[in-house]
Amino acid sequence: MDRKYPLSRVRNIGIMAHIDAGKTTCTERVLYYTGRTHKLGEVHDGAATMDFMVQEQERGITIMSAATTCVWRDHQINVIDTPGHVDFTVEVERSLRILDGAIGLFCAVGGVEPQSETVWRQAEKYHVPRICFVNKMDRVGADFFSVLKQIREILGANAVPLAIPIREGAEFEGIIDLVQMCHVRYVEDPKGTYPVDEPLTDELKEYAEPWRKNLIEAVAEVDEALFDKYCADQPIDVEEVRAAIRKATESQLICPVLCGSAFRNKGIQRLLDAVIDYLPSPLDVPPAEGTLPDEDTVVVRHASDEEPFSALAFKVATDKHVGKLIYVRVYSGILESGSYVYNSTKGKQQRIGRLFRMHANHQEIVERLYTGEIGAAIGLPDTVTGDTLCAEAQPVVLESIDFPAPVISVAVKPQSRGDRDKLMTALMKLAEEDPTFTVRVDKETEDTIISGMGELHLDIIVDRLRREFSVGVDSGAPEVAYRETCTRVVEHEERYKKQSGGHGQFAHVIIKLEPQEPGVGYEFVNEVKGGNIPKEYIPAIE
Ligand code: GDP
Repeated sequence: MDRKYPLSRVRNIGIMAHIDAGKTTCTERVLYYTGRTHKLGEVHDGAATMDFMVQEQERGITIMSAATTCVWRDHQINVIDTPGHVDFTVEVERSLRILDGAIGLFCAVGGVEPQSETVWRQAEKYHVPRICFVNKMDRVGADFFSVLKQIREILGANAVPLAIPIREGAEFEGIIDLVQMCHVRYVEDPKGTYPVDEPLTDELKEYAEPWRKNLIEAVAEVDEALFDKYCADQPIDVEEVRAAIRKATESQLICPVLCGSAFRNKGIQRLLDAVIDYLPSPLDVPPAEGTLPDEDTVVVRHASDEEPFSALAFKVATDKHVGKLIYVRVYSGILESGSYVYNSTKGKQQRIGRLFRMHANHQEIVERLYTGEIGAAIGLPDTVTGDTLCAEAQPVVLESIDFPAPVISVAVKPQSRGDRDKLMTALMKLAEEDPTFTVRVDKETEDTIISGMGELHLDIIVDRLRREFSVGVDSGAPEVAYRETCTRVVEHEERYKKQSGGHGQFAHVIIKLEPQEPGVGYEFVNEVKGGNIPKEYIPAIE
């Protein structure tokens, strides 16, 4: 069976934002307009579709990187959710690794905030082409041009508006589309809010003209002919402008900026159009690179269903119905359910069970995932985040994802004997899902110490222990780990596997750390990852 959408009509995108900029609301609207949800899940009533974990709904933040497929103008858009809280920047990092383009979302009042900056730098590191959306134009104090200036000055981006607002705050009415040079007016009726394109009045034309000129000048570098036509006052076709914007965005010469209000249903359709018109398809980004297993020979996999299969596992999640789910991005070839694949990172052949394409409110069972697609697989017991899956006859180890070492630790104590038995199994499961979360047992106190990226990260782990695994635990005060001063790993990992009666296989990883400053002393850390490891099997710190 052939793929439904040709590769040129696939977009893998993420929405990156500072917490509270409106990412959840925006994602909700995207899913609503693309027809996947029929009810708008407002954040405040805790029904937001992407935020499927209870804690996220209660805290109003997005933690899990859920990948959701939707369709707009006959294109398949895969939205990879990225969290906005600083403790989860590693989640952002792993999503950016597998994205082809991103939307940088800003609040029209708050503008560029510290977390928007962190995420922006991460996207820069992975050379992800971006478009910006200035949200909350309806809020009192909204100032589009000030946010535009901040994007330019603080983030250093060549931010170029493709739309400008018609009034701001409570008066915010609609936008001027600078590509089509029209007034996008939003009409409200009992069925909802929808856009109507109208010609510009003389007054609006006068307001828009300098910004239109700014746009054409910005893309002149990739299309001089267009600029000449503009200067000679010759008619310019909308498609010509779009093609030039696309080229300039893909080569990261410009960052197109749009605006609106997700909450008031204004500007989202134009944003979806921009994703399709300006963000790259998997064919427009450089091919995936890797090496042969145990060799430095570089291997390149071009985005094509005809190439040998290769994919990167970018997330492990536990689904209450189907168990362990591995999210993968297919870089080349086709992944078929029931087939054998080779985990080249682990050197193991594995059989793919069922395959899923994830939608906002259901999981679609599929026979195949094609090049460029994002989906989830079951039946891969040993695969973890960062592993490459490929065809055994044509192996490749794709460039993996960098995970920083945890920076904060707390001791967790089981509340009863029964809890003690369940605790370690639960922690191992959580460590398997999350590469930035580690577990160890302190030799002296015999305390179980968990480490993560921040207080909120560990709070959520403790919360999950209680809710998902029914383990009663008390947690101590968080301590900033000595790893802050011991950051360089000098001896990477030493693995061994053991069969422990009834508990399955496990791996034990030793990491030796070197101090950043002289005199701090060397430290050995025992870390345990993967498998169901009972506490007595965990060696104490040497
Ligand atoms: P996130 O933390 O980035 O996911 O942000 P949310 O989507 O949870 O939004 C944070 C708050 O801002 C919620 O109370 C939303 O209802 C509100 N919000 C989101 N978009 C808009 C908008 O366009 N205008 C206004 N006025 N409020 C918004």
